[in-house]
Amino acid sequence: MKPIYLDHAATTPTDPAVVQAMLPFFTRIYGNPSSMHAFGQEAKRAIEAARDGIASFLGAKPEEIIFTSGGTESNNFILKGIAASAGNRGNHIITSAIEHHAVLESCHYLEQGFHVTYLPVDRFGLVDPDDVKRNITDKTILISVMHANNEIGTIEPIAEIGQIARKRGVPFHTDAVQTFGHLPISVDELNIDALSASAHKFYGPKGVGILYLRRGTRIQSFMHGGEQERKRRASTHNVTGIVGFGKAVELAAEGMEKETRQEIFLRDKLISGILEQIEDTRLNGHPVHRLPNNVNVSVAYIEGESMILNLDMEGIAVSTGSACTSASLEPSHVLTAIGLPHELAHGSLRLTLGRATTEADIDRTLDVLPGIVKKLRAISPLYKKGKNK
Ligand SMILES: *Cc1c(COP(=O)(O)O)cnc(C)c1O
Repeated sequence: MKPIYLDHAATTPTDPAVVQAMLPFFTRIYGNPSSMHAFGQEAKRAIEAARDGIASFLGAKPEEIIFTSGGTESNNFILKGIAASAGNRGNHIITSAIEHHAVLESCHYLEQGFHVTYLPVDRFGLVDPDDVKRNITDKTILISVMHANNEIGTIEPIAEIGQIARKRGVPFHTDAVQTFGHLPISVDELNIDALSASAHKFYGPKGVGILYLRRGTRIQSFMHGGEQERKRRASTHNVTGIVGFGKAVELAAEGMEKETRQEIFLRDKLISGILEQIEDTRLNGHPVHRLPNNVNVSVAYIEGESMILNLDMEGIAVSTGSACTSASLEPSHVLTAIGLPHELAHGSLRLTLGRATTEADIDRTLDVLPGIVKKLRAISPLYKKGKNK
């Protein structure tokens, strides 16, 4: 049976057209883009073409795009770079409790010298813009709130948050790794000063990302060395990766709308199928302000890990909502932040659809999952206890 991949929030397959666009840059066009000769200049032209395409996709200027090694680096760059340039302008950063680890761990690191406010979210995972407003002080140097959450799919009100930040003259950064290439983004309409994106989350290659940085935003460079990227990010360009990023953006610009419609249709079918066919389940994240491809559910009385392993044996790849990445038994910080009790957080599943997901894939998942849940509940002591209450 054909394997079914429902883990697109973790990574997407590289589109064959992206691979094709990258290939010549491994072989024929191998020059260093910083070299003055023809070999180098041909590679440089390809990088600048990618940069132009990405900038216009965001409604930005080409010189506002900095190539990085991915979403993690872009997030580290903006937080540590702004902090390092703050001097005596301030020492306060505002972020949310449900950010990706690349933001949260950078903030934890910065707590050595900075004060960080981690805003709470409501039961759907939404940050309240009024909370942002209330917490800004004269010392606030950066506000960082993600565009959409990678676990529960909630889309944050970033235009409002950005507007509040702008009124107070505080730069606003958003981790848009889950939305870039999936939803339209205009940095001007959304009041964004800095944005992180990563190619492998929208059918590009792994190991390449961007930081969009609005002109005039003060930042210290993060990688020191050569003069690449206007001295803001040293190191020889990842030419193949950047070309792949550019091609993935082209494909996204063409196909995004249709893809979103298809994904929403399949997502909603999967959500209602699970909630209707399996008792004691709940949807995590916002019912409406939600990524088109994200399903996150809690299944009471059983462990997410056991469901994943059983689905995997059926050729269906999903992820736990509880993201026990470090093999620790701590439930996910996101599910905890929306107020889920530990038992429900541990029984969470994240299923994320993609460009190639078909209705047959969803039907098969809905055929298989209820049986797995039934089997696991039959041997779960929690289930018997819960049912006899
Ligand atoms: C995947 C992800 C990242 C990390 O991006 P990499 O390119 O894998 O380093 C950061 N933020 C969010 C929201 C993500 O989903």
